[in-house]
Amino acid sequence: MYSFGSFINGEWQMGDGEGFETFDPSAPQTAIGRYSATSPELLAEAFDSAGRGQAEWAGLPSAERGRRVNLLLEAIEARTEAIARAVTLEQGKPIAESRGETGKALREAQFMAGEAVRAHSAVMPAQKPDCRNLILRRPRGIIAAITPWNFPILTPMRKIAPALAHGNAIVLKPSELTPAPACLIAQAAEGLLPAGVLQVVQGGGQVGGELVGDPAVDGVTFTGSVATGRRIYSAAARNLAELSLELGGKNAVIINDTNDLERCLDQVFGAACQCAGQRCTAISRVIVADGLHDAVIDGLRARAQAQVMGAGIEPSTTLGPLINRAQLERVSGFVDRAVAAGAVLVTGGAPMTASEAPDGFFYPTTILRDVAPSMEVAREEVFGPVLSVMRYANFDTAMRLLNDVDYGLTSSLFSNDSALIQRFLDESQNGMLHVNHGTIPDDHMPFGGIRHSGVGAYSVGPSAVNFYTTEHSAYLQSLGHSG
Ligand code: NAD
Repeated sequence: MYSFGSFINGEWQMGDGEGFETFDPSAPQTAIGRYSATSPELLAEAFDSAGRGQAEWAGLPSAERGRRVNLLLEAIEARTEAIARAVTLEQGKPIAESRGETGKALREAQFMAGEAVRAHSAVMPAQKPDCRNLILRRPRGIIAAITPWNFPILTPMRKIAPALAHGNAIVLKPSELTPAPACLIAQAAEGLLPAGVLQVVQGGGQVGGELVGDPAVDGVTFTGSVATGRRIYSAAARNLAELSLELGGKNAVIINDTNDLERCLDQVFGAACQCAGQRCTAISRVIVADGLHDAVIDGLRARAQAQVMGAGIEPSTTLGPLINRAQLERVSGFVDRAVAAGAVLVTGGAPMTASEAPDGFFYPTTILRDVAPSMEVAREEVFGPVLSVMRYANFDTAMRLLNDVDYGLTSSLFSNDSALIQRFLDESQNGMLHVNHGTIPDDHMPFGGIRHSGVGAYSVGPSAVNFYTTEHSAYLQSLGHSG
């Protein structure tokens, strides 16, 4: 059983905040962790410590900061198995996925550690004679970070690594449903960084609100739902803090033509069902050309029915539980209302019992066909293993369906027609565009969304510098020399 308070000023502190527990989603009667929520007094101490720590950290040469971040990554890598286990126990996903998530978090962070020594400054031509213009960057200061429960190691690391590499202090509040992996990161950091540079606070929305609303915060990075994102946007606005929001998605694949349908469906199905569909980049709509419709339905059904549902800690499991009862009821409700509205159930469609984990929050992969674009299931984020299939006769219709949602996170097209590929690259209203593969992103590419899926700089990749640093235009005029 994990037991953690808050990691503040380089040490673990319990404070007198309210306690809360986490549970195994495949066996909800089993408590996994006990935590103590961060009190306002402790949060104030965290900000004091962050101010002191950031001044020291930013004063180090950037190469030295990069070296220390790499030491932290080595310490995390040495704990890979313990972290993967914590991810699976609290979140529920299959252990192989948790290992994969930890590996990806480290690879992204290694790329971002290198950003500490990459040149983000520039020398520009000057308008005036005897003048040289520079564009300089400085650490932004104190970063408040809030993360969701679905990727409990990847999402915290996606914020910690660039914040530290660029010379900031970061105060992270992980989801109250899955805090253990973030606590294991803080444990790995003990003694490697100045006190206050990396701190972890605990709790739910109230602590999150106090964190982002503090006037000491220079930047707020949030990953989570659109509804919470809106609240955080207004809290950050009150302090005029810089903001990066990574929100939900209603991602679609267009299957127009392919010379390898099996490979195409493997990609689509993988993108839809990893983490039981509880991924912001999960494909949840399949928009398929008339001629391929029946073969796509058959292929998806076969893949769904071959899944092994069970506790994520069992190596044979390919589909873990949903995170909690509320999520199970939410996903069930979406499917029930879709069927009532006229969608046809191909497979799945009701909560199931896994033989080895009878009390778990299991929902089988569910395929719906004849889904109309106006249905709720075609427009709202389900966040479960549910695929809505829609068919089309011409590509204009496919593109209209693709873009006919409020979200704009990621999208995918299967086609070998270069004209259609060009159209997709120009017209898909999404931050990420994939051609002939699913929606799994690379480790060094900008990650983010447009429309209701995101606000501000993308994370990972070179664009993160825009959030984690401030920009300064400098003019160096020479007034002649005395020699
Ligand atoms: P959520 O918005 O309910 O919670 C996210 C975090 O915000 C949690 O740590 C929570 O404690 C905190 N929080 C809640 N209310 C708050 C408030 N008023 N002020 C400050 N903090 C508050 O989201 P969730 O249910 O944990 O995660 C699922 C959502 O996250 C989905 O919509 C998913 O698409 C999205 N997500 C997006 C990305 C991305 O990169 N775009 C990645 C993963 C998840």
